[in-house]
Parts: sequence; structure tokens; C-alpha cells
Amino acid sequence: CGIVGYIGQSQAAPILIEGLTQLEYRGYDSAGVAVITSKGPRVVRAVGRVRDLEAAMPKTLRGTTGIGHTRWATHGPATLENAHPHASEDGRILVVHNGIIDNAADLRAQLSSAGVRLTSDTDTEVIAHLVSRSTAGSLEDRVIDVLTRLTGTYAIAVVDADAPDRIVVARQGSPLILGVGEHEMFVGSDASALVRHTSSIVHLDDGEMAAITADGFRTFTMDRRETGKVPERVALDA
Ligand code: GLU
Repeated sequence: CGIVGYIGQSQAAPILIEGLTQLEYRGYDSAGVAVITSKGPRVVRAVGRVRDLEAAMPKTLRGTTGIGHTRWATHGPATLENAHPHASEDGRILVVHNGIIDNAADLRAQLSSAGVRLTSDTDTEVIAHLVSRSTAGSLEDRVIDVLTRLTGTYAIAVVDADAPDRIVVARQGSPLILGVGEHEMFVGSDASALVRHTSSIVHLDDGEMAAITADGFRTFTMDRRETGKVPERVALDA
């Protein structure tokens, strides 16, 4: 299972696919990407290999912000509906997640009774609905608002089609790193997803989050303390 993300000047889709291919060794049963295009967010998912996902990708999936995922199913079988990214009902919030949300059953029940139509069996889907329904201000604040309601383990990446200049990520018990480029930023479960693009890496700690834009990043904790992480140079043997 793995997570990738890209925000910058280049087309996101091929970078996401290549990153997911590098993470294949981690094991997975399905894969997917979301790219913010000029016509709104587009999600492409496939059961099986990353090359099946690649084959399902429309040639015209143009956009410079995106997230991708390889899934190792814990909640619900390996189906298209359960593959990530998961979306809010209006499709504007997209989430990829590795790990397990322990209180997902409660949150699913609460969302259902509030009238939300859940479209997957996953624990992950609740995050997209909760971020969408949060009344906190920025995407960062809305993600914090939701994370304080979750128990369990996660690495997540969240995009909002209405704030396409950023990706918000968080880590609690599942690995996640950032890669720093020239007017571009990368997200990955580990360095293998990033080494073709940069040797400048930021390791997130448990309980740490980041908001990344094409021109930089900000790291902070879930209780809103700035952590001011600086990139480290990693030796590449890819
Ligand atoms: N628990 C999530 C699911 O079953 C994420 C699994 C993973 O880590 O890939 O969809």
C-alpha cells in the first residue's frame, strides 16, 4: 500500500503513475489517482495492477495537482468502489489513506443518519465527507478538525477542488514523506516514490501534518504548533 502526491508545473498524472509503480513492492490490490483538471476533479481507479490503472487513464487527464494510492484492503473487498481516492458527495474533496480508522463504524453511522450516502465499505470514505462538512476555515483547519475526531493509524493526502493550490497531508502511524523540488513538491510513502525527482526530503513525524504548494511547504502538528521542518539531503541509489 502506498500514497503519492504532486503539485507543481508539470502534468501530475504521469508522475503519480510512476510513483505508484515505484511503491508496488509494498503490496496492494487496487490503485487510483485524482487530478484537479480545469473542468474539476477527475478520479480514475482500477482493481489490480498499477499498469491496469495506467491503461484506464484517459489521455487527456491534464492538471498539475494530484494524489494517488495503492490499496491493501482492510475494510471491504478489493473492488472499484472501495479503491481510493474517496470523494465527498459533491466530489470536491478527495482523500487517499493508508492505515486503519478504528472508529470508522461509528462515524459511518453518524454520517448515514445525517443523510450522507456512503458509496464504499471503507473506513477512509468518512474522512472525505467529514472534511467536506467541516465548517472550519482553510483546508488545513478542516483536516485538523476531522483528524481530532479520528482514532487509529493513517497517512493521508487530501485535495480540495476549490483550493487546487495545495495538498494537505498528515501522518499518524503510517509512513509519509515530502519531496522538495524547484517550484514543485512531491508526497510519497517512502523515498522510492520520489528519488527520480528530488533528493531533498522532509520526514514527517507521527502527529505531524503539512500543507504543500508548488512553491513550498509548512509543517505543523494537529494542535496547530508550527514544526518548521527543513529538508534533508538523501543519498540516492535508485
Ligand atoms: N483502510 C483503508 C481501506 O481499507 C486503507 C487501506 C490501505 O492502507 O491501503 O481502504
